[in-house]
This record gives sequence, structure tokens and C-alpha cells, in this order.
Amino acid sequence: MLEIKNLQVKLEEEDKQILKGVDLTVEAGKVHAIMGPNGSGKSTLSYVLAGRDGYEVTEGSATLDGVDLLEMEPEERAAAGLFLALQYPVEIPGVGNMTFLRTALNAQRKARGEEEISAGDFLKLVREKAKTLKIDAEMLKRPVNVGFSGGEKKRNEILQMAVLEPKMCILDETDSGLDVDAMKLVAEGVNALRDAGRGFLVITHYQRLLDHIKPDVVHIMANGRIVKTGGPALALEVEQNGYADILAEFA
Ligand code: ADP
Ligand code: MG
Ligand code: MG
Repeated sequence: MLEIKNLQVKLEEEDKQILKGVDLTVEAGKVHAIMGPNGSGKSTLSYVLAGRDGYEVTEGSATLDGVDLLEMEPEERAAAGLFLALQYPVEIPGVGNMTFLRTALNAQRKARGEEEISAGDFLKLVREKAKTLKIDAEMLKRPVNVGFSGGEKKRNEILQMAVLEPKMCILDETDSGLDVDAMKLVAEGVNALRDAGRGFLVITHYQRLLDHIKPDVVHIMANGRIVKTGGPALALEVEQNGYADILAEFA
């Protein structure tokens, strides 16, 4: 489904190589986790896949179901089924949460040549998804993320994901700054979306999220590359021993 080959990326502004040849395939139905020290390029990888400005791909490819992502505009990538839950969700003053969700969903439908969702169906859909995430009616009416707590923002990211039903979900440190209860809610929201046709790339610093979102595959990223890949036990190993052993092995 998501296939990344020898992806090399530098900053546009300065001559700094950030990704130095990332190879990664996430199959439909699987959850892949990426862990790694700060500054190893995890967020950069997610930004480049989502199409954020400021990065130049110098080598390699990234495709979703065989379609080249790197040539697309960010909204085309979203319509193709890619979703990125941000480490720092953005606030959008003046735009109600419901309006935002409906606009995003309809834009995606339009790009796929589908009809707009009816007001009734939309309301039903959002209420159902919001319930799992303990997002109340008042939060749905407020401007997107404005004045939301850290936990509310992250849950709201998962709500967007649940409403848009992407094929490929990338979560960048969605657990950072969350207390245990908020993290469990986020994990439940993600688990509810797990399905044979959907892939996940879960970027996290901490093993504890992976207690709740059980990954199929764990990758360690360091210095712009995936340096080790294993099963869930690899995350436990990192939790106990840190990255030093793996990095030494790699060097
Ligand atoms: P991670 O998410 O693994 O912590 P990042 O992808 O955020 O890592 O960053 C990887 C490296 O790229 C870091 O050294 C970071 O300082 C650098 N970097 C990323 N974006 C920028 C930028 N816009 N300007 C300067 N340095 C950047
Ligand atoms: Mg970081
Ligand atoms: Mg990061």
C-alpha cells in the first residue's frame, strides 16, 4: 500500500540533508510503528509524505497503491487516502469544528467524483465517531482546536481521521503530552479504525502507546534512516535499554 524507496530529502532553505535513504513498506491492514531519538527525521518523513512545503526530495519515491504521492498537491494526497495526525495540531480561529469536518469530507468526496454528504448523514456520522472519543457537542461547535487542551486537540485529530476514513493514517507523536486516560482514548479511536484495508504508521517516542495500539512491525529511525526493523519486542527492548545498543550495532 504505502511504499517508500530510498527517500532522500533536504531542506529547501539550507543545504541540510535530513532523510538519507528511507525504505519502508506499510501493507494494508498493518500497523507499523516508528521510534527513534529526537531529531532522527521522523516528523520530516511524515511532513514530506503529506506534502508540506520547505523540503526537497533529492532521490527516491513514495507511492500509495502504486500512485506517486510526491508529485501531488497536499489536498490531492488527502483525496488519495493519506491522513497525517499532527504532533502539534493547528488552531483555526473562526472555523467551527463541524464546518471544518464537513468541508474536508466533502472536498475529499468531490475529488473522488462522489456526491456531497447530506446534512443528516453527516451529523449522524460525526456524533457516532465523537462518542467513542468522548468529544461532546460543545467541542464540536467550537472553532477548530482553539482553546482545546492538549488531550482534546489530539482526540480531535483522531476524530478528523475517523470521519475522513483514510486508507493510510500517519500519526506523529499523537501520544506526546497526553495523560494515560487521554492516551487510551486516542488508542481506542485508532483501534476502532483498524481494518484490513487500512494501514497505519505510528510515530512515537514511548513504548506505552504501543501497549494500547499493538503494532505488527516496529522500526527504529536514526540519523535519517531506518536502522532496525523488528516485531513488537523491539519497542520493549528500546524502552528498557534506550537506543544506545541499537545505534552502536548500526555504526
Ligand atoms: P524527529 O521528528 O525524529 O524528532 P525531525 O524530523 O523533526 O526529527 O528533525 C530531523 C532533523 O532535521 C533535526 O536535526 C531537525 O533539527 C532538522 N530540521 C527539520 N526541519 C527543519 C527546519 N525547518 N529547519 C532546520 N532544521 C530542521
Ligand atoms: Mg521530535
Ligand atoms: Mg518529531
